[in-house]
This record gives sequence, structure tokens and C-alpha cells, in this order.
Amino acid sequence: MTPRNLTILGATGTIGVNTLDVVARNPERFRVIALSGQHQIEKLAEQCRRFRPRYAVVLDADKARLLAAMLTGSGVEVLVGMEALERIAALPEVDSVMAAIVGAAGLRPALAAARAGKRVLLANKETLVMAGRFFMEAVRDHGATLLPIDSEHNAVYQSMPAGYDGDLAAHGVRRILLTASGGPFRARAIETLAAVTPEEAVAHPNWVMGRKISVDSATMMNKGLEVIEARWLFNARPDQIDVVIHPQSIIHSMVEYLDGSVLAQLSNPDMRTPIAHALAYPDRVEAGVNWLDLAAIGTLTFETPDLRRFPCLSLAYQALAAGGAATAVLNAANEEAVAAFLDHRLSYLGISETLDRVMQRLADLPATSLDDLTAADAAARSIARELIGAARA
Ligand code: NAD
Ligand code: MG
Repeated sequence: MTPRNLTILGATGTIGVNTLDVVARNPERFRVIALSGQHQIEKLAEQCRRFRPRYAVVLDADKARLLAAMLTGSGVEVLVGMEALERIAALPEVDSVMAAIVGAAGLRPALAAARAGKRVLLANKETLVMAGRFFMEAVRDHGATLLPIDSEHNAVYQSMPAGYDGDLAAHGVRRILLTASGGPFRARAIETLAAVTPEEAVAHPNWVMGRKISVDSATMMNKGLEVIEARWLFNARPDQIDVVIHPQSIIHSMVEYLDGSVLAQLSNPDMRTPIAHALAYPDRVEAGVNWLDLAAIGTLTFETPDLRRFPCLSLAYQALAAGGAATAVLNAANEEAVAAFLDHRLSYLGISETLDRVMQRLADLPATSLDDLTAADAAARSIARELIGAARA
């Protein structure tokens, strides 16, 4: 079997590490050509020694020098900067690109992979939230293959008819049902939410994830971003996407058909399952996950999300309805607000308040080009910072 050649963007993060774990379990199937990382240079160096890629990319020159020194004699070439990230996403010898950088920084390399016609394994949901229309156009125009890594969208993908081409009605699909765990504050008394600390917010009951997405899960902004992500991935209208809370995180999402059938994908909450699915697609490979023991789990429960508790979920539907640059504004403001919250510069409730205000201030921005979206992103960050600074004073 000829191995699939991979680039992993964001190799040092939670998704990156899980991806390398699946790769290591299937060495005859996958070969690592390029890795990128940003903050944990020692970890990136270790990954390079173990997986022997041709290239390793970091964003800034100081870190690149440090990494190159650690990798002397290893044969790994260290490259620097956003252009290098775009380059390793588009290398001719690479088949599949895992896009697992966190936040808006992941957009340009993911787009480069799509434009190079790669199999794009998309974990970076912010790409679709910021620039869904442009990204999906790039995938279509350049014959790229898009495989979702986000567990919900991977579950939907697996529950859709094979060869789904973006026409829900033609395939008899009535609705997409995204499941949500409800995060750590699903049952906490609403009046105590004002006092939530970053440590409490990142302690997710079922999943181990990066800090930003963990806070997004606590506010349910993560589910809001996922509704927007589903809109673009599956060409669904907002009214065809519903959210149901399912605290056990065993059913990862569902597709409802016109005849009343509901198809679901189940597994233990371990990102190696969707990662292995997308890496090997259409084959199946071992992912190292525990087999599902339904009798041990016993009960699966479901509830409707309380939008007073989770205003961020409403804000995401509002942004989707507003169209234009609204979802890019929402995403950028959210990145700023979450960073400020993690840094103790903004309260937990201040996150949704900030997003609401930024969205009101920047209603109706155009989105006719990627430049428009970059400008909307910058404007939203600047207003968010101003509001966060004022809230603190
Ligand atoms: P993480 O914080 O653990 O890792 C992020 C990676 O991106 C790291 O390798 C980091 O070095 C790199 N990075 C950070 N900032 C960067 C920048 N400005 N430029 C270039 N590289 C940068 O995050 P994660 O939890 O692995 O999530 C990655 C993406 O996958 C996010 O978009 C997240 O929403 C999505 N996702 C994650 C999970 C999960 O279970 N962790 C599930 C679904 C989707
Ligand atoms: Mg998810």
C-alpha cells in the first residue's frame, strides 16, 4: 500500500497530537511530510525527531532558530512564517492536510490546501465561520476533498448518504441535529455564572481540548460556531440545523430523513475516532480508542438548550441570519473576548455581552471578498478590545 503523505498544521495542539497518535498506530498507511507548531517548540522538535518530516514550520524567526538548533543533523528543514504554512499546505507530494491550527490564523493555510486540490481534514472550524462561502468555493473550484474533523460534523458526514453533493432535499434529508454536551455549566445555578473562573470554564466534563475551544464549549459558542460550520459544510439553511443537549457525548450528531429515520454516529468521546475516519477515508483503521460499552454507560439523555443560560448560541444564529460579514465579526470578537477572559481581563458573562455589542456596532458589513472579511475581523477585534478595556476600567 502506498502511504498517504500528510501535512499537519497545528501539530503540537490537542488535535495535532491525536492525529500523530493515529499515524503512529498505522505507519504503513501514513507518512508525515510537514508539521507546524507555534508555542511549544520543544514538543515540535520531539515530534520531528520521531516522525522525520521534511519540513517544520513556525511563525516567527526566533523560534525558528531555536527549533533549527534543536534539529541540527536531523535532515528536517525549518521554515518560517505564514507563507511557509501556505507552502506546506500545498506541497505537490502531499495528499492530505490536517488543518488544526486554532482560530483565524488557520484560515490562510486551510485555503491554500483547498486551492491546491488537497484532501483537507478540517478541524479549524473558524475557517468556515469566517469565510465559509469562499472556502467552499475554493474546495469546489479546485477539486479538493473536504472531510470534517469536528466530531459533530464528522458524525453528520458519516450519517449522510455516500456521495452527498450539497442538496439536502434531493437526498431526502429533513434536518441536521447537532448534539452538545452542555459543557461544565449546564446545570449550575444561573445566578452563580457571574463568578465563573477560567479554571472552571476549561474543565470540560467529557473532552480534553485546547483552552480556547474549552471556553467556547462552556458558553456554547462552540455549538454556535458549529451551527455556522454545518451551514457551509452541508449547504443547510439555519432552520434545517437544530441543537440538542446530550450530556454523555456518545451520540456525536444525527441526520433526520423525510421518512422519519434518524441516523447517528456513536463512539466514546475521543477525537481519534473522527481523525482516523478522515485520515483513512473511505477505509477504516484502528484509532486506539476504547470500544463503546453501552451497557456500562446505561443511559443516554437529551434536553433542549436554555438560551438564557447560553446566549452565545442565539448570537450565532443571529449572525448566520444577518449574513455578510456577521459571522466573521462574531468569530473575531469571540477570540478577543475568550483570550481576555482566560487572562482575567473579562468576566465570564462579559464574553456574551461583548459579542452582542460588537455585533450591534458592526451590523451590515459587506463580504464580497476575502479582504472584506479580513477587514471585518480586524474591526471586530479593535472594538472588542476597546469594550473589554472600558469594562475593566
Ligand atoms: P490547541 O490550542 O490545542 O492547538 C492549536 C495548535 O495551533 C497548536 O499547534 C498551536 O501551536 C497552533 N497555533 C496556535 N496559534 C497559532 C497561530 N497564530 N499561528 C499558527 N499556529 C498557531 O487547539 P485544539 O484544541 O487542537 O484545536 C485546534 C482546532 O481544532 C480549533 O480550531 C478547534 O476549534 C478545532 N477542534 C478541536 C477539537 C478538540 O477536541 N480539541 C474538536 C473539534 C474541533
Ligand atoms: Mg465539536
